[in-house]
Amino acid sequence: MHELSLSSAIVNTVVKHADDRPVTVVYLRVGALRQVVPDTLDFYFEFVARGTVCEGARLEQELIEARLRCDECDHEWAIEIPAFRCPSCSGSRVTVSSGNEFEVESIEVEETQCIGQR
Ligand SMILES: [Zn+2]
Repeated sequence: MHELSLSSAIVNTVVKHADDRPVTVVYLRVGALRQVVPDTLDFYFEFVARGTVCEGARLEQELIEARLRCDECDHEWAIEIPAFRCPSCSGSRVTVSSGNEFEVESIEVEETQCIGQR
């Protein structure tokens, strides 16, 4: 169900930036650690978008791999499964440097046509 609240967050953000122009595409960056199911997000987005400028817009989801960074030596690496020890120096004080993203990267809107007023 958390895809529903994420969808609401997306639509709210996009509506704020769309300035009443119909939105055609929403580019989204989703960190792997968010454990979002793309199809489920699509489904809820379409549902939440109804009646807003986002209605009918396509959701483009870019998955961001999860990366960790060692606090000791700044080594950074991608993780498949949680492995919270630095493979470079074996340090255990590490910081998640990517994987928690959930942000609207950009949107595309329909341009209002200005037909020759001269
Ligand atoms: Zn290290």
